[in-house]
Amino acid sequence: MLHERPAERNAPSPRSVRLSVTDRCDFACTYCRPSRSDGYASERLDLGAWKVLVSGLLTAGVRRFRLTGGEPLVHPEVVRIVSAVVEVAAAAGLEREIDLAMTTNASQLARLAKPLAEAGLRRINVSIDTLDEQRFRAITRGGELAPVLAGIDAALEAGLTPLKLNTVVLRGVNDDELEGLVRFAWARGMVPRFLEVMPIAEGAQLARSHLVTVAEMRASLAHLLQPDPAVAEPDRGPAKYVRARGASERVGFISGTSDTYCGSCDRLRVSSTGTLRPCLATDDGVESAAALAAASTAGVADLVGEAWLLKPDGRTFKGCTESSAAHVSMRAIGG
Ligand code: SAM
Ligand code: SF4
Repeated sequence: MLHERPAERNAPSPRSVRLSVTDRCDFACTYCRPSRSDGYASERLDLGAWKVLVSGLLTAGVRRFRLTGGEPLVHPEVVRIVSAVVEVAAAAGLEREIDLAMTTNASQLARLAKPLAEAGLRRINVSIDTLDEQRFRAITRGGELAPVLAGIDAALEAGLTPLKLNTVVLRGVNDDELEGLVRFAWARGMVPRFLEVMPIAEGAQLARSHLVTVAEMRASLAHLLQPDPAVAEPDRGPAKYVRARGASERVGFISGTSDTYCGSCDRLRVSSTGTLRPCLATDDGVESAAALAAASTAGVADLVGEAWLLKPDGRTFKGCTESSAAHVSMRAIGG
């Protein structure tokens, strides 16, 4: 389906990309996948293909790269992919201009934080929904909290900062832990961020019954935060931040459901099989297989432009609350 895209609303070309390096994951969070055995794609891009893709994305003007998934740390070559992004940027003379970050569940981070930092990864966001072991097992369907906490310590030690925590808030599940997570993050110099569950993929079921809006989250943290309007960081995605009362710490909020932010979106996504996707909430996309097989950087750059033309308009399109969103796989296209 094509959506009208008024040029004045969305960025004229993508500046930021999320690379879903694998659709595999060692967790099965209740809002993301239906079970641990919901099936994976039979193939994924190899290292050579990622190099051509990154080169094409740089040619098309992309400067901010975020590795995601699925779980990027279960990819056996994740450190080499990080090195490859840095090498390709250096070859194009753009090493100083790029930003290279990752979103991860941190289950494998204790052993990988240092090699990733040495390979050139700059920053990391860790998804953690609770500090309670039992709840953690329930939300992730069997995941263990202790390795995640060890991974966070290792990332701080390796200098992968500023480290942000992402928590999806679910009514009756973890909505009594906001203050605990804020204090946990602030005590370690991290930035806690709270996300509304989006009616996308498995979240389509949960958003009906378990949505906690950003307005409710702010109200429950009002005693810790300044009452001022939340402010976005320039070029850093949809999160808006509020400062602590009398201190410099911050809390971020992401309102993917109650207040969509499609009008300012400058983000493209690349699936683990190489589809260029302009939007999380639709199935629109452009296949890059032929350009990758021909190792054509210019071909990829052209396809990036083609994919960008499919970007929905930010005015009438209601982001992840559109009915199309319930049918996409968050894992495959990198949430
Ligand atoms: N596995 C990694 C992780 O969990 O950080 C990276 C991929 S995950 C799909 C990226 C982010 O999407 C995570 O912070 C996760 O909490 C978030 N996410 C997944 N499904 C969501 C939903 N239905 N609503 C809101 N956030 C969601
Ligand atoms: Fe895996 Fe991340 Fe999805 Fe959880 S949110 S199932 S960790 S991809």
